[in-house]
Amino acid sequence: MYSFDYQRATDTQSAVKTLANAPDAKFLAGGQSLLAAMKLRLAQPSTLVDVTRIPDLQTVMVDSKIVKLGAAVCHADVAENAQIQNVLPALAQLAAQIGDRQVRALGTLGGSLANNDPAADYPAAVLALNATVVTDRRTIAADAFFLGMYETALAPDELIVAVEFPVPERAAYEKFANPASRFALTGVFVAKFADGVRVAVTGAAASVFRSAPLEQALTASFTPAAARAVTIAADDLNTDLHASAAYRAHLIPVLAARAVTRANG
Ligand SMILES: Cc1cc2nc3c(=O)[nH]c(=O)nc-3n(C[C@H](O)[C@H](O)[C@H](O)COP(=O)(O)OP(=O)(O)OC[C@H]3O[C@@H](n4cnc5c(N)ncnc54)[C@H](O)[C@@H]3O)c2cc1C
Repeated sequence: MYSFDYQRATDTQSAVKTLANAPDAKFLAGGQSLLAAMKLRLAQPSTLVDVTRIPDLQTVMVDSKIVKLGAAVCHADVAENAQIQNVLPALAQLAAQIGDRQVRALGTLGGSLANNDPAADYPAAVLALNATVVTDRRTIAADAFFLGMYETALAPDELIVAVEFPVPERAAYEKFANPASRFALTGVFVAKFADGVRVAVTGAAASVFRSAPLEQALTASFTPAAARAVTIAADDLNTDLHASAAYRAHLIPVLAARAVTRANG
């Protein structure tokens, strides 16, 4: 790892200002992705601006319509929050499946979204639930946030402050986890709203994406059979040492059907 400066921000404005004033600086949250990249010398920021102690980024607000989570809320705190378990259990269950206990104790919602790893879990929840990403300067709709592999709509100095998740009628997340890392080999989040169903798939392609065929089938009939009847083309899906594109294409409706079963349960 190359040497770097460390600054701990106490508010949103000073975090953004410190980042803007230091060349090649980066925000630091749980460090579960960034520090690993630095150790491998894939990233060499001059300064790390720690955003985990900023009060606005630690918000947890839950009501019957919206779950609003600060960007620095760690995965374990989402998994174990009784209000979230009650109002939006799919989100708590998703957080509980991320990595291992140590990763969940340190890794954060904002870090996961800003990183946009193709196999990360939270992007599927943000996209399927039609969440809004709140930054220091604007709001970004989920459909406009994820641009590609490790790429988002965030400007280099833009700080995610919070994420607002609308509460659906029903939702669930199912993933086929990589046995070593627990990242999603493929994961499917289904969310049923009054005006239709949204389905987001992670782990299968360069970035999280919505599945139009599954959304149409499940909007017509929110049943496991409707999901299983959908065929997903393998053309744009990943092949790597863990699974072929064809296998991932097969997994998507299988996981969607399991998610619908769980959501209806
Ligand atoms: C062994 C292991 C297993 C894992 N398994 C899984 C898994 O199963 N599923 C899964 O989804 N993830 C998994 N992860 C990743 C984990 O979820 C991390 O928490 C996540 O990738 C990054 O979050 P972080 O808070 O650690 O961010 P950091 O590593 O601190 O930062 C990551 C990136 O986000 C930027 N950033 C951080 N916070 C903000 C913010 N508020 N605004 C703007 N930019 C910001 C940083 O500058 C950096 O570029 C795993 C990680 C490890 C090490």
